[in-house]
Amino acid sequence: MKYISTRGNAPKLAFDDVLLTGLAHDGGLYLPETWPQFSTAQLADMKTMSYVDLAVTVMLPFVDEVISRDELHQIIKDTYGVFVGDDIAPLVKLGDNEFVLELFHGPTLAFKDFALQFLGRIFDHVLAKRKTKLTIVGATSGDTGSAAIEACRDRDNIEIFILHPSGKVSDVQRRQMTTVLSDNVHNIALTGNFDDCQNTVKGLFADEAFRDAVNLGAVNSINWVRIMAQMVYYFWAGLKAGAPETAVAFSVPTGNFGNVFAGYAAKQMGLPISQFVIGSNANDILIRFIETGRMQSKEVFATSSPSMDIQISSNFERFMFELLGRDSSALNNAMQEFKDSGHFSVTDAFMARLKDVMDGERFDDAAAAKLIGDTYKDYHYLIDTHSAIGIGAARARRWDKNIPMVCLATAHPAKFPDAVKAASGIYPELPSHLSDLYEREEKYCELPGNFDAVKGHIETTLQERGKL
Ligand SMILES: *Cc1c(COP(=O)(O)O)cnc(C)c1O
Repeated sequence: MKYISTRGNAPKLAFDDVLLTGLAHDGGLYLPETWPQFSTAQLADMKTMSYVDLAVTVMLPFVDEVISRDELHQIIKDTYGVFVGDDIAPLVKLGDNEFVLELFHGPTLAFKDFALQFLGRIFDHVLAKRKTKLTIVGATSGDTGSAAIEACRDRDNIEIFILHPSGKVSDVQRRQMTTVLSDNVHNIALTGNFDDCQNTVKGLFADEAFRDAVNLGAVNSINWVRIMAQMVYYFWAGLKAGAPETAVAFSVPTGNFGNVFAGYAAKQMGLPISQFVIGSNANDILIRFIETGRMQSKEVFATSSPSMDIQISSNFERFMFELLGRDSSALNNAMQEFKDSGHFSVTDAFMARLKDVMDGERFDDAAAAKLIGDTYKDYHYLIDTHSAIGIGAARARRWDKNIPMVCLATAHPAKFPDAVKAASGIYPELPSHLSDLYEREEKYCELPGNFDAVKGHIETTLQERGKL
């Protein structure tokens, strides 16, 4: 399998190069040259597979020539071995023909573990084969840092440095990062705010000599491998809910569009999905797009579902490329317009194709809180602020009540305990593997919000670790 860029101006790459490259050199995102196809008979055979065997079957066509079936099987077994419970992704029945897919049983209690736990291990595998090492540097406002750290901890060929604004992330968020004591994990509490952290990281990537010396990398949200790992649970849930004999629908609380695009990829590969519903909070750029056919960014609002507080959905480019019949020049025109003017519009024909598979709804914090309260009252089932928006969107927008609707629960309620408590009256407890989080030892260093201080600290640390 070879990979092409959505912008049509970058070389075709093999799987391992796509993994390490992230963004294509023409500014585009990588996609497989063709979608592997699964027949109805093959889908029926997958129904009885374990999560690990299903993941091997779905992902192998994307990595063959670079990673063998045995190697892939070992990596996937290790990846999902750290999840709690045998089911990996339990499907829970809620209402009539309505299901919740629990994607929060990984180490950091959010669905991003499905992709990042896999990404960390496959990075390490490819780096070892190539005999190279990588230094990951990232900034976090609280949420993504812990998923990246858990993904990279104890990997032989990766050192990871995560900057967070000192005193400005919640105790749970800080502790999920700083109580990882692995030698290759380095937390930095920076004096300043999140923008100061992000600007420092941008400065490091712009410093070419430094970037090359330490082989700087990012655990990028647009990396193809994250989409690839996320496709698996659409097959898993779809088959449990009745496919391939019946079509299924999915509802996804959406930010960067990576999660829902993975579902669209599963549909392209043969899984019969009749509808996607996307849910947004007050940051509703995608809902406005569905309503008007015009993509226009606005300022970002802080909401009770912070992982969806985004201005632009970067993975939407992949979906657009598909709906444009893979026409790179039409895509380039839209992206150029967006860059120049902050907006672009699409044709009526494009919108008709989009509305054939997708619908969406927005919920403000009060509406999300009501959904959490009602779901607890009606079903004695606790959901988090993000999952609530997906469930609400499914109910508001489903086209056919006879088709099973699977709502993706993207975070554990205990990840956002205050909002969940306020909405339901119930304080969600952390699962047992994290219940001693507040007693654990922390390891991090405080640095001034100063580029040279951070750069010097990273160089010294790498030297002490014998990595520079
Ligand atoms: C990242 C995240 C989302 C949004 O997912 P995208 O792939 O960016 O659309 C939704 N919910 C939670 C809990 C998240 O962490």
